[in-house]
Amino acid sequence: MRSIVIGGGVAGLAAAVQLAADGSTVLLVESKDTLGGRVRMRDSGSWILDPGLHLMRRKGPLNQLLRKLRAPRVLGSRWNNREILAIDSDASQALTALATMSMDAEVIKIPEFVIPRGGWSSLVGRLIVSTNQMDVMLDVGSSAEALVLGPDGKLASVRISGNDIECDEVILAVPPSEASRLLESAGLDTSELRRCTEQRSAALDVALEGKPMRPYSGLFDANRGIIAIDVTAEDRIPEGGDSSACTILHAVSLTGDGPEALQDIKEFLDSRCSGWRNMAAARRSTTSIMLHPCSRAERVDGLAFLDHGIALAGCHIISEYHLSDAAVDTGRSAAKALKLNR
Ligand SMILES: Cc1cc2nc3c(=O)[nH]c(=O)nc-3n(C[C@H](O)[C@H](O)[C@H](O)COP(=O)(O)OP(=O)(O)OC[C@H]3O[C@@H](n4cnc5c(N)ncnc54)[C@H](O)[C@@H]3O)c2cc1C
Repeated sequence: MRSIVIGGGVAGLAAAVQLAADGSTVLLVESKDTLGGRVRMRDSGSWILDPGLHLMRRKGPLNQLLRKLRAPRVLGSRWNNREILAIDSDASQALTALATMSMDAEVIKIPEFVIPRGGWSSLVGRLIVSTNQMDVMLDVGSSAEALVLGPDGKLASVRISGNDIECDEVILAVPPSEASRLLESAGLDTSELRRCTEQRSAALDVALEGKPMRPYSGLFDANRGIIAIDVTAEDRIPEGGDSSACTILHAVSLTGDGPEALQDIKEFLDSRCSGWRNMAAARRSTTSIMLHPCSRAERVDGLAFLDHGIALAGCHIISEYHLSDAAVDTGRSAAKALKLNR
């Protein structure tokens, strides 16, 4: 089987590994210059600052996949979820918001969280190593432009940077708008995907030479919709540094994006982490990053185009999981469904 995976984020990497494990010849196409998608590496000097608040669920599909791939070194340490300060809410609401990165999720059974060792980029790096070990071909820096169906309605090829590459099946591990554009290029109906509305957020990542959040490991303000956590770990600070005197702080607005939302995060930290601005050793912020590609109610069926040899993956696909766990779950499910459909 010749399979193509479009999109080199967590969902695409998980899908490619599964397809290769099931015996396919796999080509993974990523339009940016590096793999990883929304968790791709960004330089933050000698500190390890993830791009946005990123914790992994200890028993979630991503952690399970890493265990399967025998990657114990990236699994990291448990995050202390008992010391969260919930303002205008309670601890279970705060932890639900943290687990789902959403303000309106129903309270869920609270998971244990893990801080991946070496940050999310090392975790994604481990998935990339697995694709190499499984002989997945990588085409990084090339864009998938169109899907071409044969007269039987089955996928015949994918147009990648102007070339038609023949294949038998494809997984679209790209955001809904891009999946919709590609499916429309093959004349398929994408009305459900087009209904997806992105939820964007402002986020602030900062390395502090001090412990202004003490005694808490996390802060959640239900009225402002802001969550801030301390993910300090030995491997995230510069060599020779003392983790008991530093804070790796990530804060996200769960209610919106834009300069005002970022300002709101800073003012929240001013009120709860006094002096943090003067302690900043490394800092990165964004006024707008896509947090969820759609609302939970808008999630779509990833297997709706299976008869054409096409499956979808990502957090906009129906799954019992959230965030990167949903990406891994839907990536692997898409690969398994294509295998059964052959
Ligand atoms: C601020 C923030 C905090 C988060 N915190 C957490 C957390 O604590 N825990 C957690 O589990 N998750 C968290 N997440 C979510 C997690 O980062 C995402 O769920 C996950 O990275 C999504 O992966 P993906 O592969 O589905 O999508 P993406 O990462 O968006 O990957 C899609 C890829 O497709 C590529 N692409 C698009 N179009 C094309 C094309 N035509 N051809 C080729 N390639 C294409 C893109 O360049 C991109 O690399 C957070 C996200 C954000 C933004």
